[in-house]
Amino acid sequence: MALFAQRLGRLEKRNEFNITDHMAKAEAMGRDLVRLNLGEPDFDSAENINECAMAEIKRGNTHYCDPQGVMPFREAVAGFVSRTRGVEVGPDMVVATAGGKPPIPFSMLTYVDPGDEVIYPSPGFPAYEIWARYAGAVLKPLHLNEAKDFRFDAADLEPLVTRKTKLLVLNSPSNPTGGVLSRDDLKDVARIMLDKAHPDFRILSDEVYEKIIFDGRKHESIMGLPGMREHTVLMNCHSKTYAMTGWRVGYAVLPTVEEARMFRLWSISVYSCTQPFIQMAARQAIIDPVNDEIIKMMRDQFEMRRNRIIPELNRIPGIRCTNPGGAFYALPNVEGACQTIGATEFCRNNKQAPAPATMFQLFALYNHGVATLDRASFGRVGIEGLEYVRISMASSLEQLKAGVERMAAAAEDKKGFAEFIAKPDLWME
Ligand code: PLP
Repeated sequence: MALFAQRLGRLEKRNEFNITDHMAKAEAMGRDLVRLNLGEPDFDSAENINECAMAEIKRGNTHYCDPQGVMPFREAVAGFVSRTRGVEVGPDMVVATAGGKPPIPFSMLTYVDPGDEVIYPSPGFPAYEIWARYAGAVLKPLHLNEAKDFRFDAADLEPLVTRKTKLLVLNSPSNPTGGVLSRDDLKDVARIMLDKAHPDFRILSDEVYEKIIFDGRKHESIMGLPGMREHTVLMNCHSKTYAMTGWRVGYAVLPTVEEARMFRLWSISVYSCTQPFIQMAARQAIIDPVNDEIIKMMRDQFEMRRNRIIPELNRIPGIRCTNPGGAFYALPNVEGACQTIGATEFCRNNKQAPAPATMFQLFALYNHGVATLDRASFGRVGIEGLEYVRISMASSLEQLKAGVERMAAAAEDKKGFAEFIAKPDLWME
């Protein structure tokens, strides 16, 4: 009998945190690093939020609470969602979660039986593919096309949808592409799903970057389209909007009270409840208008960095990059650089090598001191030949410039790459 249960084989071991082991190793080898891998704002949580949490702790709000979430938090969320999506949402449809991630496994495990089909964006946040596989779903990645600015259209989605389509994941603005869906895109999605999907389909709409959107655009949510509220599980969190990654607080808004009770059950079964003093601080974040100003300041910073950095990336021979419309990521195509340094040919002839973009990522880290994330960190089904790395713009402009300079040096360093491949302990999977 093996130590580990067989189902663990369905959990993807490679994820967005793997790079940290390599980074520790690179640092131990004496390399100073520019970290462009991190998916968290380089700001601290705001004073009014911090003070609220401390006051709540001091007044003893430190006990178990309703596993669905404390009522003041759920009311604040329901008010915010009703106002911004133009639909009527009550607090009984809101479930507080410990961070932004739990609604992903909760949705897959609630709605998807083995053999049901799940459509999810690829490249996309890795937990979608990981949990769809874990639930036994037929995996249907919806490949986002660089030529369409990483949006997708009806022609891409329609062929994937069948009567077995139980869940579709949307993520706009997107991690890792920065792609933003328009209201017309969402209308197409609604039409196709209503026409062709399972009658009880659900759309898991991951809107955690809703406030980080550029060029004066307005965030559009599928929840607000006619007939969609009944099919949409909205997930959101405070990690990005309010720079609260370490607080671990988020929420889901379910189509029915019955479904909210199911999510409540998951929360009871996994972690009992989300910390009440943190929920109260998260409520403060939503209701205090001061935070709107802080969000705007952060968003302006991200937009300014995007405006400065994307042209720099596009100046590097062998690298090209679309202009992200939101979130704080860029996903440069590094195919040309992989060819120049010899990564493409090396991977073609070496069965033990990972994908060329992964080799580029590791080479850029170990030899040039810049940490990025490879394409394989964002879904792995059907990605052969797609060579991208993600950089996060949640770093100072100076750091970003330094990181991009290092990428440029890596992109032409054929000699360094030949030396790097002679050290398989650095790149063999
Ligand atoms: N969804 C997307 C698209 C994300 O990028 C992230 C975090 O990076 C999450 C969900 C999860 O957020 P959290 O860190 O609060 O779990």
